[in-house]
Amino acid sequence: MLAASVGLDPAAVGNVRLRVGEGLVGHVAESRQPGAYENAREHPAYRYFPETGEERFHSLMAAPLMVSGTAARSALCIGVLVVQTVARRSFADADLDLLNTCAQVIAPVVMNSQLLALVSGGEELRSRILAELGAASGAAVGEPGRAEGTVQILGNATSRGIAIGPVYFLEDSVDWDSTDYEARPDRAEEWRDLEAALEEARRELHDLRDDVRDRFGPDFGAVFNAHIQILEDKGLVTKLRASVSEGGNALHAVRDVCGEYARMFAALDDPFFRERGSDVEDVAQRVASKLLGERNHNIRLSEGTVVVAENLLPAHFALLETEKIAAIVSERGGPTSHGAIFARALEIPAVTGAKGIVKSARAGEEAIVDGESGSVYLSPDDRLRSEYQRAQHKALVAVEHLDALADRPAETRDGRRVRLSANVGLVSDLRLVEKHGAEGVGLFRTELLALVHRGFPSEEEQLQLYDGVAEAMSPRSVTIRTLDLGGDKAIPQLELEREENPQLGWRSIRLSLSHVASFRSQLRAILRSSHRGNMRLLIPMISSVHEIREVRALVAEVREELARQGHRFDPSLPLGIMIEVPAAAVIADVLARECDFFSIGTNDLTQYTLAVDRGNERVSHLYTPLHPAVLSLIDRTVRAANRARIPVSLCGEIASNPLAVPILVGMGLGELSGVASAVPVVKEIVRALDSGVAREDARRALEVATVEEVNEISARRLRDCGLLEHPDIGEWLTRAIERSQRRANLLGDRGLSR
Ligand code: PEP
Ligand code: MG
Repeated sequence: MLAASVGLDPAAVGNVRLRVGEGLVGHVAESRQPGAYENAREHPAYRYFPETGEERFHSLMAAPLMVSGTAARSALCIGVLVVQTVARRSFADADLDLLNTCAQVIAPVVMNSQLLALVSGGEELRSRILAELGAASGAAVGEPGRAEGTVQILGNATSRGIAIGPVYFLEDSVDWDSTDYEARPDRAEEWRDLEAALEEARRELHDLRDDVRDRFGPDFGAVFNAHIQILEDKGLVTKLRASVSEGGNALHAVRDVCGEYARMFAALDDPFFRERGSDVEDVAQRVASKLLGERNHNIRLSEGTVVVAENLLPAHFALLETEKIAAIVSERGGPTSHGAIFARALEIPAVTGAKGIVKSARAGEEAIVDGESGSVYLSPDDRLRSEYQRAQHKALVAVEHLDALADRPAETRDGRRVRLSANVGLVSDLRLVEKHGAEGVGLFRTELLALVHRGFPSEEEQLQLYDGVAEAMSPRSVTIRTLDLGGDKAIPQLELEREENPQLGWRSIRLSLSHVASFRSQLRAILRSSHRGNMRLLIPMISSVHEIREVRALVAEVREELARQGHRFDPSLPLGIMIEVPAAAVIADVLARECDFFSIGTNDLTQYTLAVDRGNERVSHLYTPLHPAVLSLIDRTVRAANRARIPVSLCGEIASNPLAVPILVGMGLGELSGVASAVPVVKEIVRALDSGVAREDARRALEVATVEEVNEISARRLRDCGLLEHPDIGEWLTRAIERSQRRANLLGDRGLSR
């Protein structure tokens, strides 16, 4: 259906319909590919609608509005964005790219209004949208009753860490059924009250967005835009008004109308769409509390509280004094929600989807939260409590002790320096870079901003983020990586079809190079934030010389453009590539001539070298980054970089693996970048090593046949350096060695297949 138009006859809006596959626009919807037609009306597929007055137009280009819920779902075309010109025009690739980018930006807005229209629209529209989005039966899950003694509730492991503390129920939710609320006798007055509450809630959301943005960064603030959009939805307001004029009770209107929305969303089988339901509930609670005259602000918590809530919502992080929260447990929600992302970024242990917690937990009773396993224990017995207390205490002391020594250099006993940096994805992570003494940001993953936004951020939004990071870290360096989407990192606006082998498919630099307009705006934002001279530009998933050359050419164009426009930038911004595809490691000598530095991504290098999908549980026992084949490619890359005299670093997870560190240092890597909280531990290991001995260990590791032998070489080194007796990390290292040995025995017992 023609949903909106500038230029066509307004009377045609809402009245002209095309089937998918019909006409040029229908063809774009069907093929899910943008298309440009210089002489549209002579195209065999052209379909003419006299009521639109489109005979004036000659050329046409169109791009599909694509959304997709999760990587597992195929993408959905929810509409088409069309541009027509009166004068005949041959569209350039850049025009089509730009239109496609616009379509990607608009798609989530359209999707949100479609979801909202689920309720405000009629039955026919509802069933059509539900059919398109794929509704599930949405069976209710019963809540278990409370047993005596210690109660264990299992949920989703959402944010790592252990906490023990008294339960605090987040009573910000209005109890719809037992709240005392007296409606006014005059329905018009009742509606005016609700209107005022809506307005107050809207203003509060704007303030909240700004407050959260200031406290935690722009990416966090943006989350509230979805709430604002719901509150401003015309359909919702109309339904509320109708409900008040029918029932005469504003609180019931909010309960019923928002409840209907939330139930609709909850019935969708895609977790991405389903989690929008919690946004509606959040909005409903906010409006209700305004109506009742309650203020949610200034909730006073005592130190070390375990917050139990129905849902882990972004607003909680603005309402509560986060420094007093020991952990958060929520009845509902999953580890991908906005609230979960916040908890992880702020290092607050969290368990979500802990079914039964709200019914079972009692205010003030003691709870243990283990964010690593997803376990919550209510009223733990003495044995359990002391076990967890011991583990928690050890972890805390070790972290504090090591953080206090953060200023010591990471150098081997014989004085070889190894740079230890942190991998970062959100502005709030920078706090941890400082805290744990990392020397800079070795990998800034820009896709997190896109994932939090659930779409491509604009150049200005990116600039704000990147510039903030560069400024906060200055003069320390920040290596910023261009978008690495696709594979296991999907965003709705990318037209990611379900691929047979997504990890081998259209991802990372391949995607960027085929969305030139978006890529260009990212390069512009990066260059514009490079003017302090502390940035490096990193390109992911390079597998050939052609890709680097293509990127270089684009960077050169963007530079010229920025210079013309008078923007400041670093004219010699280093351009490096990730070595994470075996082909790149094999031709590292050639690639080294084409770029300024290498960063080895062992997470992907392992997956591609060993042909083991890094996200597939069934083959996870085969995912072994210390496999001699992977080590050999790392070694090859380091040697090529040394020959070409360019810096080489490593930013995969093994940079934080104690069993990998002695070997990586021995191979001569100059920089290791991993999770910020592991920096102090890695530093202790580096400081205990002798570079000559480490070199010899690395040489032997490259000659052995199995991962187990490599582990054994490292374990012996950690032992011989006295690290297993280290007061802070000794026990932890011992457990890591035991875990690796148990895994080896398991493989030995069962063979390599399961
Ligand atoms: C890697 O592949 O090692 C890497 C650091 O990138 P990511 O984990 O983001 O794919
Ligand atoms: Mg990677």
